[in-house]
This record gives sequence, C-alpha cells and structure tokens, in this order.
Amino acid sequence: MAAENSGTPGIDSTVPPSGAGCGDCLGVGGWWFHLRRCAQCGHVGCCDSSPAQHASAHARESGHPIVQSFEPGEDWFWHYGESQYYDGPALAPPDSRPENQPVPGGNVPDDWKSKLNR
Ligand SMILES: [Zn+2]
Ligand SMILES: [Zn+2]
Repeated sequence: MAAENSGTPGIDSTVPPSGAGCGDCLGVGGWWFHLRRCAQCGHVGCCDSSPAQHASAHARESGHPIVQSFEPGEDWFWHYGESQYYDGPALAPPDSRPENQPVPGGNVPDDWKSKLNR
C-alpha cells in the first residue's frame, strides 16, 4: 500500500483528483457541503458535515487513510486511522474545487442547513 512516489503510506502525490464535486453524490442526485480528496487515489468525496459523508465512507471501504481538504485555500490533511491532522506533500493539481463552484454543491435542497451533520 505504500505510495511509490512520495514515500508516505496513503499518499500518492501524482494522482489527480477525480473531479470538481463529490462523484458519489452526483451519481444519486445528492448534494454536499465541503469536499475532501483522497490522498491515495484522488477520490473526491463529501465531508462529514454532508448528509452522505462519502469521503469517510471511501476511506473505510478502500482502506485509504488520508484525505486532504479540497476547499480553496485549505491544504490540511486528515488521517482517519489516527484521527488527527497530518502533514503531506503537494498533490497533483488542481488542489481544490473551482473557486466559483457553489457551496453547498450538487442538488441542494432549500432546507439544507437543517440537514448538515454536526
Ligand atoms: Zn457525497
Ligand atoms: Zn482513495
């Protein structure tokens, strides 16, 4: 499972992100709040405040332990296995969703604020 290019297990800095939004939400007409990018395979998923929590679901199902924020201006990593912030290398661009992309994204209901996980 070691990433060949960075030397850090769980991080492959050569893999670009899978898209600009949560592909799992888009596939089912859902919506997301903030986005997280898998540091190993580039899977872009929604954060734990989002209804479907696809980023952490991906980490559980794939065993890929580390995500980076995919929000503009944020470069922190989170290690699910260790439940702590993490330092990592610069990943293949783009390093965030498009800045002009709406938040929340996807098929957003009017009462989205009441549907966030807290
Ligand atoms: Zn999602
Ligand atoms: Zn992954």
